[in-house]
Amino acid sequence: MQFDVVVIGGGLAGLSCAIRLAESGKRCAVVSSGQSALYFSSGSLDLLAQLPDGTAVSSPLAALPVLQQQAPQHPYSLLGATQVATLAREAEELLQRCGVAMQGSCEWNHLRVTPLGTRRATWLSPQAIPVSAWGGNLPWQHIAVLGIEGFLDFQPQMAASSLIEEQKVIAEAAFLHLPLLDRLRNNPSEFRAANIARVLDLPEHLAALAEEVKRQAGEAEAIFLPACLGLESDQPLLALRQAVGRPVFLLPTLPPSVLGMRLYQALRQRLQQLGGVFMPGDTVLRASIDQQRISGLYTRNHTDIPLRAQQVVLASGSFFSNGLVADLAGIREPVFGLDVFSKAERADWSHPDFFAAQPYLQFGVKTDANLRALKQGEAITNLYAIGAVAGGYDPLQQGCGAGVSLIGALHVAQQIIEGHNVK
Ligand SMILES: Cc1cc2nc3c(=O)[nH]c(=O)nc-3n(C[C@H](O)[C@H](O)[C@H](O)COP(=O)(O)OP(=O)(O)OC[C@H]3O[C@@H](n4cnc5c(N)ncnc54)[C@H](O)[C@@H]3O)c2cc1C
Repeated sequence: MQFDVVVIGGGLAGLSCAIRLAESGKRCAVVSSGQSALYFSSGSLDLLAQLPDGTAVSSPLAALPVLQQQAPQHPYSLLGATQVATLAREAEELLQRCGVAMQGSCEWNHLRVTPLGTRRATWLSPQAIPVSAWGGNLPWQHIAVLGIEGFLDFQPQMAASSLIEEQKVIAEAAFLHLPLLDRLRNNPSEFRAANIARVLDLPEHLAALAEEVKRQAGEAEAIFLPACLGLESDQPLLALRQAVGRPVFLLPTLPPSVLGMRLYQALRQRLQQLGGVFMPGDTVLRASIDQQRISGLYTRNHTDIPLRAQQVVLASGSFFSNGLVADLAGIREPVFGLDVFSKAERADWSHPDFFAAQPYLQFGVKTDANLRALKQGEAITNLYAIGAVAGGYDPLQQGCGAGVSLIGALHVAQQIIEGHNVK
């Protein structure tokens, strides 16, 4: 099977790269073995929230020169501040073309309310999430945080007490009593956010849901619910807001994340509408490499029939998605055996203080300045590495996971479209 580009991994990085390539007429295939990190994410996308020295970042683009000094191996530092700024704006436009309505911009971080009721700096958040401007307060003085009886993946009391303590607002916790969920409740393993959303999204359940929300919210000005609504669009939330007559927002839950799943579905749909080929449930196992070029990719399902492409993009995620593997021999990238940032001594992989920056989070594939993957110190001419599989940055401490994925994806797509390394 012959393509212009094969992308390995269908998470945020792989899908956005493939979408950009398909938009420019490239014949693309995405091979993706399992669920991506989006299924486990908040649904908000981080660009740069904190510098390695711990300084909080209000304006991600303005902080890039300092990041360059503190972290020269960071993917943003490799690409340079001007390119990162250009591609951050392009990423915002790409999400819009996918029908993903987000609030925020790369000029200024905003603060989103977390499931714990604290606030966290981020770049883009779904419209459903309550946010405040950087340095600003939430616009409400009285908030009702409503859980769902029997749903353990969201604790309204915890969120309400942080809102009281940190935001100095009146916040009251209560639980929605929803008999329409009883069928799901019988099996605790089914009583999860995505399954609840499938029931609550049905238009015939709107009136009962709105009635119970109004009853439990009392006199509150704004209402925060767990994100168990709107699996496919904002429509059920907009209808609920109208029926309740007050601002209603969603807070992320434990996985599966409805907000992350919706983003994933929108990206995947856009790729397929553009004619991109998506191969879910298949895994790239190995590759043939001739003269520093990938000449064929061998997958679990296609066995000895190789996928062939002019260009290959590795977007296989980090340890979480098996894009990186840790075993007795050390840290390795399992498909191509690429060079990785790591530490020789196992004891140095993690920090004993659980809350400190963890060294293993910076592990990942080494690339050149154009994000081409390195093997034995040399770039493989038609293989790029993007997103969480790439090393040199800490997505958690620096709050930059989605930004690195999107910006790397668009940079590589640009390289391929402009034919910088086609031989
Ligand atoms: C639990 C969790 C929560 C996060 N939450 C946030 C958040 O809220 N906001 C934020 O900005 N960042 C978050 N991040 C950071 C996150 O890593 C990035 O934002 C981004 O989603 C990573 O995307 P990716 O496409 O590089 O990798 P992934 O999303 O991990 O996708 C990689 C894909 O490649 C597939 N794959 C792996 N190996 C192969 C193979 N050999 N063949 C075929 N397919 C393969 C995997 O199955 C997976 O589907 C989170 C990370 C984790 C782990």
